[in-house]
Amino acid sequence: METKQVKAFGTDASDYALGAMDIKRRLATPKDIELEILYCGVCHSDLHFARNDWGFTVYPVVPGHEIVGRVTQTGNGVTKHKVGDIVAVGCLVDSCRSCNNCKADLEQYCPEWVGTYGGQDKHLQQPTFGGYSESIVVDEHFVLSVPDNLDLAGVAPVLCAGITTWSPLRHWNVSEGSKVAVVGLGGLGHMAIKLAHALKAEVTLFSRSPEKIEDAKRLGADHVVISTDESQMKDVQGKFDVIIDTVPYAHDINPYVGTLNVNGTLVLVGYLGPLDPMLNSVPMIMGRRKVAGSLIGGIAETQELLDFCGAHNITSDIEVINIQEINEAYERMLKSDVHYRFVIDMGSLKN
Ligand code: NAP
Ligand code: ZN
Ligand code: ZN
Repeated sequence: METKQVKAFGTDASDYALGAMDIKRRLATPKDIELEILYCGVCHSDLHFARNDWGFTVYPVVPGHEIVGRVTQTGNGVTKHKVGDIVAVGCLVDSCRSCNNCKADLEQYCPEWVGTYGGQDKHLQQPTFGGYSESIVVDEHFVLSVPDNLDLAGVAPVLCAGITTWSPLRHWNVSEGSKVAVVGLGGLGHMAIKLAHALKAEVTLFSRSPEKIEDAKRLGADHVVISTDESQMKDVQGKFDVIIDTVPYAHDINPYVGTLNVNGTLVLVGYLGPLDPMLNSVPMIMGRRKVAGSLIGGIAETQELLDFCGAHNITSDIEVINIQEINEAYERMLKSDVHYRFVIDMGSLKN
């Protein structure tokens, strides 16, 4: 298969800083779209993956799955987009297209789904490489349309932080009057607040960080509960229909389960791994409460979200950085010092 060399930023090992590297991309096949990457959001998953936090990283890694770009080439069978269109690519670049989950627009749960980075590239015998690069080639099914009223840098985080919180909000039928809580005010958390607010829910933020209270209210939270304050936690027992927990590390989720209403659901989206401390069944049994998980979202649902963001003028609150600042951005992310998503101006890769 014909390939071309493309500039990227990535790493060869878990303890190396990210730096410039060259990667190979395939030339567009009949169903492919090639895009010049303009902006790429920085997800905490990029950091987990680059540093092998989950133990299954294959190197080299080029992270990035919140991609906004301009179409530069299309294969002759492409009908969805044309050269010059502003488009987006999120966390998925392929799936089997024939299993029940694919048929139900749940490509993210396809046993053969291919992540935008760190997946197994079906065309080239190498890992897939993500958006910290000058261009990418993706099958048109996985390329999304961007509403033209939205800021191009600000819309990038919708592709992961947005859809990861939108999918559970929609699945658990959040609507006017729903009582929703969000745990953690970072990239996912701030999008969860904006989206739940736009769905007309009553929104509460659980945070460890009192200095984020004002921002949370500006973003659309009606209430903020400082999770380390026992009396504040007591005041919200039995209150919420849905909790979206975005915390990236093992933490005690038991205090949150008790804040669910009868039949309420706590959805883990942040932490991947065994719970520690263990889950206590008592508050679950005593209120028919559920603890669930959710992974990103399918392609149709991601387009639905982009269109919703266009209609409601929703983008992410971002800090635009150059690619050369990525290692510093990761260190700030580890200190929860992100307001509220870094987005890389990929033009900086040319420097
Ligand atoms: P982020 O921007 O770093 O935000 C995480 C927030 O969680 C922080 O701002 C902080 O908020 C809180 N937090 C951090 N460490 C904590 C700790 N030890 N204990 C309690 N709270 C803590 O991260 P993100 O990009 O939103 O990603 C969050 C997680 O979601 C990551 O693990 C990422 O890999 C995962 N993720 C999952 C999916 C999925 O499909 N399920 C998709 C994307 C990302 P406060 O200061 O307010 O406490
Ligand atoms: Zn992500
Ligand atoms: Zn499938």
